[in-house]
This record gives sequence, structure tokens and C-alpha cells, in this order.
Amino acid sequence: VIQDFYQRGPKSQAHYERMKAVVPGGLQHNLGISKPFALAYQSAKGDKIYDIDGNEYTDYLMDGGPIILGHHFEPLDAEVVKLISERGPAVGLTHENELRFAEEIVKNIPSVEMVRFVASGTEADTLAIRLARVYTGRQKIVKISGNYHGWSDQLTLSINFPGTGAMDAAGIPPECYQNTIEVMQNDFDGLARTFEQHKGEIAAVLVEPTGGHAGTFLAHPDWNKALREVCDQYGALLIFDEVISGFRLSLACGEEYYGVRPDLTVLGKIVSHGYPSAGAVGGPKEIMQYCHPSQVGGKEAFTAGTMSANAIMVTAGYFSLKFIREYQAIEKSAAYANRLTNALNELFATRKDLPFFAYNLQSIVHVETACYNGISLVENPAARLPEAMQRYTVVQTYALALMTRGVLPLGDRFYCCMQHDEDSLRKTLAAWEYVLTLIPAD
Ligand code: PMP
Repeated sequence: VIQDFYQRGPKSQAHYERMKAVVPGGLQHNLGISKPFALAYQSAKGDKIYDIDGNEYTDYLMDGGPIILGHHFEPLDAEVVKLISERGPAVGLTHENELRFAEEIVKNIPSVEMVRFVASGTEADTLAIRLARVYTGRQKIVKISGNYHGWSDQLTLSINFPGTGAMDAAGIPPECYQNTIEVMQNDFDGLARTFEQHKGEIAAVLVEPTGGHAGTFLAHPDWNKALREVCDQYGALLIFDEVISGFRLSLACGEEYYGVRPDLTVLGKIVSHGYPSAGAVGGPKEIMQYCHPSQVGGKEAFTAGTMSANAIMVTAGYFSLKFIREYQAIEKSAAYANRLTNALNELFATRKDLPFFAYNLQSIVHVETACYNGISLVENPAARLPEAMQRYTVVQTYALALMTRGVLPLGDRFYCCMQHDEDSLRKTLAAWEYVLTLIPAD
């Protein structure tokens, strides 16, 4: 597989060697595979990416989730180009599309009355917990193990490896975690215990409603409901991080899909279909007003950012939401994801010796390929570091093999867009058939 990969990518490899000299690790965008080298892209269209060596990929990376209309979607790109060429991209004043976009978000998400734009998902999560603290007057935040909320100091606790309790990032003083409490995902008793132990101290629970990493570690069907109940019981806020899931699960986001209403919703790259620089927090006026000092007599959850609500982002955001609705992108990409999931499970059924299975949350398809003591990590997010590390290596190996057959996943994840079609399905299945031939039968 590695040899194949080298043969297909001499130009990407040369690019990577030059990058390594001037960029730590040779890679800034941390989504792609960097071993043996990172792929450099030439162009993208629909569900396809072309690398600089001329290889075509049926893409499921989708820029880490936000692309649901398809790459280089011309009606959307045309609106952004029009903004830049006719009006200028950045002046520092408010813009008509900022107003239209904020109104549109409020219209779509029932729990959201007001919205504040920032410049990334990391910033939006940072603002959401700050708002929760100002609003409740409490300091502690419950973070669910293995859930990802960006790379800010307080929220990097146990990002990747559920239950390790270890810091995942160096360079963060341990005091930064003194108000972050880790609770294992799907641990209903642990959740109740934590709230009892810290009565009156917990400002909010921050959670990916899908379960960690967009559902790589799947949430128990009752998990979000349990979070809502415990928050209500103890007077804490429930914050849904929908940086990935918002506008993929539904135009009304996870609150419709899961039937649980959060107090605050965090949105990210999906709100502008991958255009820079996107992030937003939405919620009821009663909480959101603390974003601005004039509203609350100086008691402010301080927010700033030169890039917040920049004209490119709000234009791309407003029009992508419009096109997602008009083109029924959520329904179409989810229908494709259902077909892909079923077809993969039929294929995996031909290899009963392997623990592989596929599942999907609307247009987010996951393939679980690892099992420990007969239980997959999906069912058992409490598994510890060695298993999680082992799983990660396994996933990366399959991803590399798929790439040599022209399919580009994000680890175990396959984000679908509305332009994936029968041809994409056929190519994806052929690539997986190849992966299965690499694994000797028991
Ligand atoms: N939350 C979730 C659920 C995410 O998936 C991500 C990014 N993948 C973030 C927050 C951070 O967003 P950003 O990379 O824009 O800072």
C-alpha cells in the first residue's frame, strides 16, 4: 500500500518535502494523512478532488465536514466572487448579508433568538462557555470525554482518547483544567455523581450531540436527553457543539434530530460551507445579551475578533443556507449515505471473520473496523488509551489503502455531499473490496 501511495504521488511528495523545511511537520491543516506524505490538491469539483499528480479521488473529507453542496459549487462561489469584485471583501463595518444570515439562522433553529458570529469553531466554543459562566455565575464546565471542541486551553482535556483523563496537549498549564470536569460519554451514573459532587458549581455541559468526533464514539440514544435533564435539575446550561452536525443533520440542527433543546448552540465551519472564517453561537436573548456590555450594564462575556462576521463568511453563509434548502442538500446527501451504509454492510457481511460495520447519522457515515474483547469502541467509548491508539493506527492504514484506490476518507468518517452518485458508490465499494483483499481470512 505504501509503495502504491509513493508511486501515485511524486509531486505531492516533493511538495511535502519542501513544506517540511518551512512548516512544522509539513502540514498545517490537520485533517489529511501526513504519513508517508501529505497530498496536495490541484482542484475540486462536486464530489471529486484532484491532486497535483493528477489523481482523482471520490472525496469524503469534504473539508472536514462543511461541504454538503459539493466542492466548488458554482451558484455559491458566484455570490462570493460578486461580493469581492463588486463591493470589496473586508472593511470592518456591518454588512447586509450579516443581517440576512443572522435572521436566517434564527428562523431555522428554534432555540436560537440571537446569534453572535466569531471566526472559528474553537472561538465559538470558547465564547459559549464564557457566556454560560457569566449567565450562571458559576465556573465549572463539564466536558464529555472524547468530544472535540477545538484547541483552546480549557477544552483540550481528553480530546481523542476517551477516559484517559490525561492532557492531550502539552504547553497547557494544568491550572487551565481546574474548572473543566471530564465525564465519560454514555456514563449516566458518572454524570449524576458529578453533578451531585459539584452542586451549584457547574455552569454548563458542553457536548457533541452526535457523540465524540461527529459520532465516531456514538452517543447512547438517551444521552442527550439525560444531559438536558441533569442540566435542568441543577440549573446548568446545555451547550450543543454543532460545528459539524449543524445543517448536516437538519436545518434545525441537532435539536430537531435528537429532539432535545439546548440552551446554546455552537456552529462552525458548516455555517459558511468552508469559506473563511466561520463560527457562531446562538441562543435565547436572555443569555445572548451578555455578549454585549450595553445590554447588561457591563456584565459582559467579552467577545471580539477582526474576522468575526467578515463579509466573505456571512455572504457564503447566507447563500449556502439558502442553497442547502433549495437543493435539498441535507436530504440528498443523507439518502446517498444510507445507500453507502447499506452497501458497505452487505460487503462486510461477506467477511464474517472481520468486525467491520458501517453506520450513519444522516450524511455522516462511519466505518468501525476495530473490536477489542468483542466490543467495538462505538459501543464502549470507555476503552482506554492503548485500544484507542491501536484503533487509530488501524483506521489510518485502511484510509491510506482507500486513497491508493481513489477514495479519500477522513479516518473512519465519510462525509457525503449532495453530488455523490451511483458512480461514487461504485468506486467507493470497489476501493473497500480492495481493502478487504489485503486482510487475510482467519
Ligand atoms: N467543535 C467540533 C465538534 C469540531 O469538529 C471542530 C473542528 N473540527 C471544532 C469544534 C473546532 O472548530 P475550528 O476548527 O473551526 O476551530
